[in-house]
Amino acid sequence: MRKVAILGATGSIGKSTVDLIERNRERFEVTAVTAATKVEALADVVRRTGARLAVVTDESRYTDLAELLVGTDCRAAAGDGALIEAAVGDADLVIAAIVGCAGLRPVMAAVETGKIVALANKEALVTAGELMTNAATASGATLLPVDSEHNAIFQCLAGANRQEVSRIILTASGGPFRTASPEFIASATPAQAVAHPNWSMGAKISIDSATLMNKGLELIEAHYLFGLPSKRIDVLVHPQSVIHSLVEFVDGSMLAQLGSPDMRIPIAFALAWPERITTPAERLDLATVARLDFEEPDTSRFPALRLAREALEAGSGVPVVLNAANEIAVAAFLDGRAAFPEIVRLVEEALADAKFDAPRSIGDVLEIDRVTRERTRAMLKASCS
Ligand code: NAD
Ligand code: MG
Repeated sequence: MRKVAILGATGSIGKSTVDLIERNRERFEVTAVTAATKVEALADVVRRTGARLAVVTDESRYTDLAELLVGTDCRAAAGDGALIEAAVGDADLVIAAIVGCAGLRPVMAAVETGKIVALANKEALVTAGELMTNAATASGATLLPVDSEHNAIFQCLAGANRQEVSRIILTASGGPFRTASPEFIASATPAQAVAHPNWSMGAKISIDSATLMNKGLELIEAHYLFGLPSKRIDVLVHPQSVIHSLVEFVDGSMLAQLGSPDMRIPIAFALAWPERITTPAERLDLATVARLDFEEPDTSRFPALRLAREALEAGSGVPVVLNAANEIAVAAFLDGRAAFPEIVRLVEEALADAKFDAPRSIGDVLEIDRVTRERTRAMLKASCS
């Protein structure tokens, strides 16, 4: 039995994880589950998984959670300390499925305790970068990518000599506005922007997919996961989302991983690693797919990709600034406080005059994050008034 903790159990990745665990009860025991505020959904996860610890980070929801768990064997807890407890408890494997930099401390705690960390929460790696990969080396933790592109690359690299890799190619669907005019994009609504053509996901990553910031964050994520410089990580738009990414070797061979666009495939890969388990994901029928298309990303309509690459190449705290400004800007767009193009404009403005020393601790990272959030909120206010 593998003991599993699910951080962010009520979200899109969390729900898919619970679905897989319910189908494979003989293999997994759930030790802890967490959510930000949704205690009813969290209590439902507890009943379905038999988790022993349920954590809501919003302390004002503690009493409601405790009441919902009366009669179960599950202990209720609340707050940031309890979230760390869920991450470092007796789980062998931690599913990191919190969205945003809010997941950084618990993910880092799981890494420092030498767990297998199945990482969906890309913002944690984008912001902590080398601090996290160094901590994994020191503790013996294993970082398993859940993000479909990085999971694809991880699979293609199995047994490969890293010296023989010439580059990796991240595929991108292009998002809901791939073929849209700049005028249409400029007036896009949240409902249009979250309507992803191929994947069903949480709101924040759906908006990131529409701006292509998601691919930018994934570029930085790939750099830290696979230790390749920016110039050896390419992005290719592939609207069908059938090829999840590729690796090119020095001899000109390319390996790709294919599958239907269902996150249960990479989640199952991570859950059972190094074994494989069956999933209910639809099998890919290539005759029905019939054709696969590819095109270069358009950085004039989608400048986020360029900003993210610049942030990666600048290093130090710059990816932290990119991420924090983006989180604030995306939230503002979703609340109707900013137009779609404002998202990337705010990120660019935040990056323009950001000056920080390279973070040497998670405390330093969180300080850059905090300051950038404040600055971005102030820029938002200034642009609204
Ligand atoms: P989601 O919004 O559906 O779920 C987020 C989860 O995190 C919820 O359980 C929520 O309660 C919890 N959470 C949110 N804010 C929190 C906070 N401040 N403190 C503690 N918990 C908090 O998001 P999602 O789509 O499942 O994405 C989760 C992560 O996985 C993101 O980093 C995303 O980029 C990544 N990811 C998602 C997909 C996907 O298909 N959904 C694919 C690849 C990568
Ligand atoms: Mg992805």
